[in-house]
Amino acid sequence: MPANNHQQSILLVDDDLYSVNVTARVLDQLGYEKIGTAYNGKAALQKLLNDDITYDIIILDLNMPEMNGVELMGQVTGVGFKGSIILLSGEDKRMLETALSLAKSQNLDVLGALAKPPNCNMLSTLLDNFKPVSKDISIGFPQIPIAVEELKDGIIGTSSNQPLLFFQPKINMKTGEIVSVETLARWWSADRGVLGPGTFIPLAEEVGLIDELTNEIYLKAVIQFSEWAQQGWNLTASINISVNSFSKRKFCDYLVDIAQKYGVKSNQIILEVTETQAMTIAVACLEALMGMRLKRFCLSIDDFGTGNSSLAQLKDIPFTELKIDRAFVNGAATDASARAILETSINLARKLNMDIVAEGVETKEDWDLVDQLGCDYVQGFYCAKPMPNEEFVHFMDGWSGPH
Ligand code: C2E
Ligand code: MG
Ligand code: MG
Repeated sequence: MPANNHQQSILLVDDDLYSVNVTARVLDQLGYEKIGTAYNGKAALQKLLNDDITYDIIILDLNMPEMNGVELMGQVTGVGFKGSIILLSGEDKRMLETALSLAKSQNLDVLGALAKPPNCNMLSTLLDNFKPVSKDISIGFPQIPIAVEELKDGIIGTSSNQPLLFFQPKINMKTGEIVSVETLARWWSADRGVLGPGTFIPLAEEVGLIDELTNEIYLKAVIQFSEWAQQGWNLTASINISVNSFSKRKFCDYLVDIAQKYGVKSNQIILEVTETQAMTIAVACLEALMGMRLKRFCLSIDDFGTGNSSLAQLKDIPFTELKIDRAFVNGAATDASARAILETSINLARKLNMDIVAEGVETKEDWDLVDQLGCDYVQGFYCAKPMPNEEFVHFMDGWSGPH
């Protein structure tokens, strides 16, 4: 019988069934009960993404068909894995050492490497070194655009391609409370893991699939927000929309219908449009934005400061919120021209009676400056990075204020 039970969950990734059984038995003897298995890298990625459990440790064979252990290491952070890795291989010592340095160069936490079959004491020593770590998964996503076929697949929602939602909280500066959450889209590709918005949003706009894609993202977001509301969280939902989508009646009707269907009030939804896109707005879009506002949706002008729009252009659109681009926020305390744009933007938004959000608050210094200048809300790495739902739930539970 094991001396004590361990709570950590372990994913065993190995194509050799015999080896999996041997290692699983050793883990069982050591008191580890939460064990998952995958027979190659692709299957492991799927499990990391779809299993209800969050794996703490991956025990990884190097030599596997389809996607080997080294390739898998290159992708695990992209699916949100933040645990540690133990390499297990029949390969010689030098191969293991090379794999170890590759893993370290990718900032992975590697507990060590073992030859097959694993020795019980040595495996136990490595496992005892496990410490939960918090790693940034919101940045550094691959930026290689996806193909149009993948995009079409994903809009239907196939298992190998689909849009994913990440969430970043927006904090009320006066109260320190999380009042709102922005939905930031990612793409799950079975081949390449989690991809950033630059790999598919511009493509969707270019090939005319942006409305369909936005509908999918919006639907998932509204469902998520209604679930959060049911558990008692009163959060406003910010969702990014490509401005041209507003020129279609059908698109606007969909936004209204879905909100109604899932019981999310329109005044709890903020539709974000970038300043650059808002500047080139067509009359049809302007009318639609007015219509959405009359239906009590909130409208936000995103990335403000990057588009050089004039006051005259801005006042024609009934925006309720202005988000100052991070280029004028992060480091503005020591950058006179950034600070000048920040101050001017805040004054402008005040006069137009808009809520003011500072994006890209990364440090206490950034926070203090925007606080002093009179921003209402902040969004940025200082408080939280964009994260998937499971992580967001933990984040909310642990939130006790920004500092
Ligand atoms: P955005 O709407 O301005 O979102 C804020 C971006 O800044 C996000 O990048 C976020 O990860 C990043 N960010 C937040 N805080 C910080 C910080 O403190 N420091 C730094 N360096 N960055 C920070 P992300 O998620 O890569 O999104 C980029 C852009 O892609 C978004 O900018 C938005 O314009 C667009 N996008 C994302 N999701 C969607 C979508 O569903 N539809 C459309 N049309 N566009 C989207
Ligand atoms: Mg935005
Ligand atoms: Mg922005």
